[in-house]
Amino acid sequence: PDFIKVESARKVYATGRDTVEAVSDVSFSVTRGEFVAILGPSGCGKSTLLMMCAGLESITSGRIGIDSMPMTGPRESIGVMFQDSTLLPWKSVLENILFPVRIMRRPVRDYMDRARSLLAMTGLTGFEHKKPHQLSGGMRQRAAICRALVTDPDILLMDEPFSALDAMTRDEMNEALLGIWDRQPKTALFVTHSIREAVLLADRVLVMTRRPATVVEDLRIPFPRP
Ligand code: ADP
Ligand code: ADP
Repeated sequence: PDFIKVESARKVYATGRDTVEAVSDVSFSVTRGEFVAILGPSGCGKSTLLMMCAGLESITSGRIGIDSMPMTGPRESIGVMFQDSTLLPWKSVLENILFPVRIMRRPVRDYMDRARSLLAMTGLTGFEHKKPHQLSGGMRQRAAICRALVTDPDILLMDEPFSALDAMTRDEMNEALLGIWDRQPKTALFVTHSIREAVLLADRVLVMTRRPATVVEDLRIPFPRP
């Protein structure tokens, strides 16, 4: 039943002579289909934890298993989204969304319907042939959501995906995300320092403390999301 299992995960960065213990001793598990927010102050190790879950950063000690397999590197079944999920500027919105399909060397025509339905869900229909600079910041992040979901990954890992946006656009993005999850719920880890965003989006909220960087609280949101 544990889809994501993090056991005593620790990360120490070595920079020259200095070492930084970015994540101290984090353990938690997530069942399939849960939307879990990881909340905590800036610098507490949230990004590092997420990068280890994505297989993009090595684990100093402890274990992270996803679908009963230890994380040793990036996987096709895991989508990621960052605060600045840069779109390729010389490619159209549609080409950007389909880029992961090309990376995985799969036939683009098999993913065209899915790309178009994601464009519709995020209100980007009609903008597919625009270049990223012709869109607003909010629209670019919506395109980044489409790109992260186009190959239908089992898990979406998001690192403060909307924190560069103004408050109103951010509310719209949260609405867009909830809209997608209503139609096709997925297992998600969502890193944020906004309590409001965590409570709005997540089924569960994990709270990380600054030092030592561990998970202290596991708050289950008992009420249905709006
Ligand atoms: P958060 O996402 O909660 O803001 P981070 O995971 O980015 O926290 O950072 C946790 C700590 O690890 C910070 O003290 C940060 O300076 C340090 N850190 C993050 N990445 C690196 C790195 N690549 N090299 C050295 N130190 C790092
Ligand atoms: P967002 O809230 O996603 O940042 P804006 O508030 O900037 O979007 O834009 C609101 C609406 O205005 C968009 O949904 C879109 O219909 C239209 N729009 C924004 N930028 C452009 C553009 N460069 N070209 C055409 N229409 C645009």
